[in-house]
Amino acid sequence: MSNLDTHPDVLVCKTAADDHAVALLFAPRDVPLGGLRGMRVDRVLPQRTLPTVGAWCFLDLFGPNRTRMSVLPHPHTGLQTVTWPLAGQIHHRDSVGSDVLVRPGQLNLMTGGRGVAHSEISADPDPTAGSVLHGLQLWVALPTEKAGMAPDFEQHLDLPVYAHGGVTATVFVGTFGDAVSPATVHTPLVGADLQVAAHAGTTVPLRPDFEHALLAVDGTLMVSGVAVPAGRLLYLGTGRAELTLSTNGTAVRAVLLGGEPFPDELVMWWNFVGRSHDEIAAARADWETEGQTRFGRVAGHGGARIPAPELPNVRLTPRRHGHRG
Ligand code: MN
Repeated sequence: MSNLDTHPDVLVCKTAADDHAVALLFAPRDVPLGGLRGMRVDRVLPQRTLPTVGAWCFLDLFGPNRTRMSVLPHPHTGLQTVTWPLAGQIHHRDSVGSDVLVRPGQLNLMTGGRGVAHSEISADPDPTAGSVLHGLQLWVALPTEKAGMAPDFEQHLDLPVYAHGGVTATVFVGTFGDAVSPATVHTPLVGADLQVAAHAGTTVPLRPDFEHALLAVDGTLMVSGVAVPAGRLLYLGTGRAELTLSTNGTAVRAVLLGGEPFPDELVMWWNFVGRSHDEIAAARADWETEGQTRFGRVAGHGGARIPAPELPNVRLTPRRHGHRG
């Protein structure tokens, strides 16, 4: 499934400012998503020893490339999906009746809860004409008491911006500085798309009770003394009240994720998030049942859907967080 095990997945860095502060660099894995054109993504989360950052439990970075996204109806449980396009536009349809386009700067937030199905298709009719698909697909694990909630969908077209010094941050989830996203989440969380200006050296505030991680998207970002190359995730642990962000002469885009350390060990398989093998196996069986009602129907696809893969011949077990004090 991946080439992860042929390479060490984590590099330990000591920051100059604080020898006790956690600063771990993670490399993404190159994962084929399958589908009509075999789109590939960089899977940033989960990592073998880093299953979650707050309730953030999954992060794929796709593109930039001239691939057409075509993800037919498929199910989700126990999570919220966050779709954050950086370029291009995506047509989202789901089993709670949503049928919308999402564009850069706009947020699609779908709550799977006990079960939802959706499709995501590039909205550009001819990608060879110059359109580029680039974006983030994130999942947020629901806490136990919300994992079986009714499915829901929200789209937010106007999101708040935090601006200070050379940093401009669009806050898609939670609170960052004085900017508060209207998106509905169920644990204390932050997700922000940062633009750090060339030659900027700016300190931004963090909640010390959150753990944080930062993904550099398109250049090397200096984060409190640690160089984070494009495509790498820097895990920062808890206990930080601020970060200093600077660049080496070119503006850099980065994504900041954080939240209260998630208390539960999660079993994640295919598109399902749960607490046990049996819960995941039941979700799979329900999706494979002819005429199922748990996940509903996504209009506009006839009978087309993505079938669930076979379960492995071993019981699914949770990943363990390896970097908490
Ligand atoms: Mn999905």
